[in-house]
Amino acid sequence: MTADVLKDISKCTGCTACEQICPHKCISMQYDAKGFLYPKKDLSICIDCGICVNICPVNIEHEEKSSFVQKVFAVKHKNKAIQYASSSGGAFTALAEEVFERNGIVVGVRFNESMKVVHDFAFSIDDLTAFRGSKYVQSDLSDTFTKIKRCLENKRLVLFSGTPCQVAGLNSFIGSNNKYLVTLDFVCAGVPSPGFFSKYVKYLENGHNSKLVDFKFRDKTRGWKKGWQTIVHQYENGLIEKKLPNEDFFHKLFMARVSIRQCCSTCQYTSMNRPSDITIADFWSIKNAAPDFNDSSGVSQVITNTIVGEKLFRSCKNMNVEECEILNSLQPRLLTSKPLSNFAPHYWTVYSICK
Ligand SMILES: Cc1cc2nc3c(=O)[nH]c(=O)nc-3n(C[C@H](O)[C@H](O)[C@H](O)COP(=O)(O)OP(=O)(O)OC[C@H]3O[C@@H](n4cnc5c(N)ncnc54)[C@H](O)[C@@H]3O)c2cc1C
Ligand code: SF4
Ligand code: SF4
Ligand code: SF4
Repeated sequence: MTADVLKDISKCTGCTACEQICPHKCISMQYDAKGFLYPKKDLSICIDCGICVNICPVNIEHEEKSSFVQKVFAVKHKNKAIQYASSSGGAFTALAEEVFERNGIVVGVRFNESMKVVHDFAFSIDDLTAFRGSKYVQSDLSDTFTKIKRCLENKRLVLFSGTPCQVAGLNSFIGSNNKYLVTLDFVCAGVPSPGFFSKYVKYLENGHNSKLVDFKFRDKTRGWKKGWQTIVHQYENGLIEKKLPNEDFFHKLFMARVSIRQCCSTCQYTSMNRPSDITIADFWSIKNAAPDFNDSSGVSQVITNTIVGEKLFRSCKNMNVEECEILNSLQPRLLTSKPLSNFAPHYWTVYSICK
């Protein structure tokens, strides 16, 4: 009997597909010493059917997409306030709004009441406010995949937004070509530890004697430029703390690639071969790709990867769009993965001592 779903568990992305598929509920996601979720099997009830092993996206060769020709667009939401509140140009909101027009459901990421980063379901435009903005923490998917499956069985259109490895996990769990599912990923630099983030939240709350009620990783007070954002901590007692990226040590350890999940160092999704229908990103090379479209309130890059993605994108009414040359648009995490810092093992040793 195999104790783990993967021979090399360090490659596990934590996508939850194995946990959600197991017909005997033998698998549960549990935090490791670094605060990341990994699947644990209860061998006393496992019947060794192999379903979990076969569904794991890490065990499945990442297949090349069909002959579809990908296209790259620069995008800004037409509503200035939404563009400003989004991490880049607000492409996510414009896509989600189109899904609601079709009576669909949007699945994205927000902070819950305990400031935990979680996947959740949005049924209206108002619900999107909490999803807007990148949270640089690995989200807890919980039973999201199973709930999405039920929505698809009821013929509801679902837009799932997540990391490329979460999209790959969902594709594997649902099976390919479900006509009610559209997937959206982003160019991904890696995800920091949710356990570490929880400790950081407690540390901030103890220091200010108040509950944290919001945390913005990408506030645009100083404009939209790489590494230029303001980090905002908002407390229940009304205090709002603004920091430069190098003054917030959670963000600093993310940028230095210290607190990131191990599998991100060899990520198989750092290429133009995407698992999703649509990919979004910051259009950092906008000055080369479409200089007249540049905007200090942010510009999104949108890559359409499939016909399904292209159709949804083309039907969006709330965005201004300019098509760009792919070669002017490639950023590092669309070309290669990046190792973690050499300092990471030392950091995690200290982290595990300081319980
Ligand atoms: C961990 C992480 C790493 C990223 N790395 C890069 C990068 O290297 N290069 C780059 O160009 N862009 C990166 N992005 C994407 C970028 O920050 C923006 O999300 C993207 O430009 C889209 O912006 P927007 O204005 O359209 O959407 P926004 O309104 O900002 O919407 C954000 C979307 O991301 C989802 N989301 C937020 N946090 C998470 C999370 N923790 N896990 C899963 N989904 C989440 C929300 O559900 C929503 O759908 C990263 C995002 C995250 C969360
Ligand atoms: S082998 Fe089958 S029963 Fe055992 S954990 Fe995997 S899916 Fe569940
Ligand atoms: S299916 Fe996902 S959570 Fe399970 S072992 Fe594979 S990568 Fe990890
Ligand atoms: S870098 Fe790759 S493995 Fe890490 S969270 Fe992003 S998509 Fe997943």
